[in-house]
Amino acid sequence: MRFYSTNRQSAPVTLREAVMTGLAADGGLFLPERIPVIPGAFFNNISEMGIRDIAYVVADLILGEDMESSVIKRIVNETFTFEVPLVPLTSDRYVLELFHGPTLAFKDVGARFLARVIGYYSAGTGRGVKVLVATSGDSGGAVANGFLGIPGVEVCVLYPHGLLTPLQRAQLYYPGSNIRAIEVLGSFDDCQRMVKQAFSDPVLRAVHTLTSANSINICRLLPQTFYFFHAYASLVHTDGVGSGVVMSIPSGNLGNLTAALLAYRMGLPVKRFIVANNANSVTADYLRDGVFAPRRAVRTVAAAMDVGNPSNISRITELFDGDYSALSELVAGYSISDSEILETMSETYRDDGYLLDPHGATALAALKRDIKPGEKGVVLETAHPAKFPRPVAEATGITFAPAVRQEKPLRKEVRISASYDALRKILMQV
Ligand SMILES: *Cc1c(COP(=O)(O)O)cnc(C)c1O
Repeated sequence: MRFYSTNRQSAPVTLREAVMTGLAADGGLFLPERIPVIPGAFFNNISEMGIRDIAYVVADLILGEDMESSVIKRIVNETFTFEVPLVPLTSDRYVLELFHGPTLAFKDVGARFLARVIGYYSAGTGRGVKVLVATSGDSGGAVANGFLGIPGVEVCVLYPHGLLTPLQRAQLYYPGSNIRAIEVLGSFDDCQRMVKQAFSDPVLRAVHTLTSANSINICRLLPQTFYFFHAYASLVHTDGVGSGVVMSIPSGNLGNLTAALLAYRMGLPVKRFIVANNANSVTADYLRDGVFAPRRAVRTVAAAMDVGNPSNISRITELFDGDYSALSELVAGYSISDSEILETMSETYRDDGYLLDPHGATALAALKRDIKPGEKGVVLETAHPAKFPRPVAEATGITFAPAVRQEKPLRKEVRISASYDALRKILMQV
């Protein structure tokens, strides 16, 4: 399988090149040249399959030409060292708990898979690989953890000043590890811009083999398709339901939505999708009125979705061949205010006895607005509520014992201004 750039200004590349470069030479994002359709028979007994078996079938269809089956199997098994339960709320609503990985967020799936693919490709090359990633919260910890101890790979995580919870920060600072964290005096969008600039810096690229572990890397994205099939399988298994399924996706940078749409094109029998934005409503607005207008992100209680310029939008328009009406028919968008997010957390805890995190609550609030009688709704619960103790306490009164004490960092903290020059200086030294 070859992978082409959404900008179409550079030639298609192999899987290896797509993974190791992260971003296409023309600045576009990679997509597979061909989206394989899963044979219908797969769905006949999907409800009896576990997530690893499902993942293996889907992965093999996309990666099978480039990797041996045994390698794909090993990477899938090492990725899913945890389960992804589908938990019923009140009638017709379900929560897909994607937070049972080591850093308690769905980003573990993509990060663990990608780390192992990069480890596979860098083994025996004799040249170390440097992974650059910008995080608004959860991806940094997931990437740091996912790459922990992968030989020959060094990870550099950029995060915006003041945005991470103590737990998220602690997940970045492992003593003596192959992980380096850099705090940027700016926003997440600044971090993303700086990473992009590093990739287009020919001098830096001559010194290091650079790759990205952001959701822009195609191997972060591909494994996220697996759990959409798994959610469907679990629903059929629990409830015998095979039609009228609606999936609500708490969205920021649109990695999960892109994976959902890839899964849909591969044959996932879902009726439609919902994009749930917080007050950063760029995608919801686009789906409503067709105008994509990036803007500065504002801070919300669902902070991992505080994104003002979601980079995966080019993949999404590409997957629909620019057919906006087809896209807006399949995907509805809603923007949910902080007060409605907190209210949904509080209500769900009171009425269903289920504790949502603010991101899952955003998705449930959007689902409630959109779901029609007879439909079954699946909400992606993207993080464990313990990762967001403040809004959880505010909405429900539940407090968690602090998972980390704020003692001195395990590794000296590096803080830089939001300029590419400052980042470049560091990257050229190490
Ligand atoms: C990253 C993140 C999101 C947003 O996911 P995208 O795929 O970037 O849209 C939602 N919830 C949580 C908890 C996250 O960490």
